[in-house]
Amino acid sequence: MPEKTKALKIAIAGAGPAGLLLARELARAGMKVTVYEKRARAAGAHDWSDAIEYDVLRDAGFDMPVAENGIFRGKLVKKSPAGKGLFERHAIDPLEIWAPDLSCKTKTDIRFGYILTDRVALDAMLRAEAVKAGAQILYSHQAVGLLGRTKGPLDKIRVEGLRVRGPKNKMADIQADITVDATGMDSILRTGLSASGAIERPFGGKELAFAWRTVRKLDRAKLGPGGIPDHYRYGAHGGYFWTHLHDEKTIDVGGGVKDEPGRVDPAEVVRGIIDEYPAITSKELRGGGGRVLAGRSPWSLVASGFLAVGDAAGQVIPTTGCGVGAGLAGAMMAARTVIEAGGNTGIDALWAYNRRWFVESGRGANLAALGALKDILQDLSHEEIAFLMEKDILSGEMLTPSINGRFFAPDQRSMMSALVSGISKPSILMKLGKAVSTGKKVYAHYARYPRKWSEKGFERWKKRAETLFAGPG
Ligand SMILES: Cc1cc2nc3c(=O)[nH]c(=O)nc-3n(C[C@H](O)[C@H](O)[C@H](O)COP(=O)(O)OP(=O)(O)OC[C@H]3O[C@@H](n4cnc5c(N)ncnc54)[C@H](O)[C@@H]3O)c2cc1C
Repeated sequence: MPEKTKALKIAIAGAGPAGLLLARELARAGMKVTVYEKRARAAGAHDWSDAIEYDVLRDAGFDMPVAENGIFRGKLVKKSPAGKGLFERHAIDPLEIWAPDLSCKTKTDIRFGYILTDRVALDAMLRAEAVKAGAQILYSHQAVGLLGRTKGPLDKIRVEGLRVRGPKNKMADIQADITVDATGMDSILRTGLSASGAIERPFGGKELAFAWRTVRKLDRAKLGPGGIPDHYRYGAHGGYFWTHLHDEKTIDVGGGVKDEPGRVDPAEVVRGIIDEYPAITSKELRGGGGRVLAGRSPWSLVASGFLAVGDAAGQVIPTTGCGVGAGLAGAMMAARTVIEAGGNTGIDALWAYNRRWFVESGRGANLAALGALKDILQDLSHEEIAFLMEKDILSGEMLTPSINGRFFAPDQRSMMSALVSGISKPSILMKLGKAVSTGKKVYAHYARYPRKWSEKGFERWKKRAETLFAGPG
């Protein structure tokens, strides 16, 4: 590692999973890393288990368990529902997909590439590893703005650190070679830049969902013969609802809906689901709710001296609202870029992070295309979605990649057979056709993301992207 790189001073705002993993990686590379977190240490992350991509956790270095007969076995698996451990015992795979009105389900189940991961345990492990590697984490320190040149076209921006409000409201200006926004979907620092729409777009509108979940004790004596299958009630209220077993004694019931004025309360719908199953008791072990990002990345995740990771970078699977795995993947790409940049903190060197995210890993391109698809399909009614499932047009095979964060465009033959099956409802097929074709165009456009930073090349790419999404990005 060149000495110039080792001496870099890194300031990260936000101690969520993305910020902590980035801190760990850069501290391991010998850099001077400080994480500023607005919460007091005791507050912790949310207390339930999230569905997180198995492969990303493996790539981030976790000792992953192996599933045998639907049960995970390994060092980090919980021994009991309330026990310590990172992973829940029950392996969800396959997952049934039910129509929102419960009239049918897809003919084949989907392959679910996630593992239920305890967020308190995950954040604690990442925190401990970051500190062990040499990073400093300062709680009760709120980032309030950026230092340096924060206005102008993207190539004129030069971030030089951040302003922090510490305990007793004491303000401090922190100089840093690279400043990172890992503050979650509010993207406090990124949205404070002003770079002609290249990076600063706040999330809003169709990009926000509201989710609620409750983890309940199961009364096995009251379980019917089929038990309660792991399932998604897909497309319900512009989102989806689920039941996931954690183990033989506990179940997670939840859902997320499009966050818009007059939306349904997901907690109400969840209560309705619970009423259908006498085996789900009133004993809540964990749970809660909140806003979830279901949007897409800004056009660039970097400027000179600056980058964004996690929800702050729009690194989230828009069809599920799962952001932890995508954020961890983004943090690993950001770390690799900073390490390989050899001490160069300019936009030309950090641009490799954009390329990795949008093109080389395919993640950003897939998620942007999925976002375009979701924006159109989200407005289908419950009956329309049920129709597509019943006709096997919205099939398990088609939904598997979409739920796992990959854009999948049906080939000509599948589209033709969809046309034949769905002949009685041409308007629904037109919507599906439009969604697929927009997704394809978006995906193809990301493949042309500028290889190297150049103001002209990026401006050309951005203009076309704005047209595709019909608005600034
Ligand atoms: C009900 C619900 C269910 C969910 N289920 C899943 C799921 O099953 N799977 C999944 O992958 N994801 C799920 N998510 C989404 C997931 O929680 C987020 O995608 C993930 O936490 C994003 O990680 P992050 O590190 O980018 O940001 P965050 O986890 O949001 O962390 C950001 C951190 O920055 C701190 N911060 C904010 N502002 C400042 C500031 N000004 N200065 C300093 N610090 C600041 C915050 O306090 C926080 O600690 C769910 C979310 C909700 C609400």
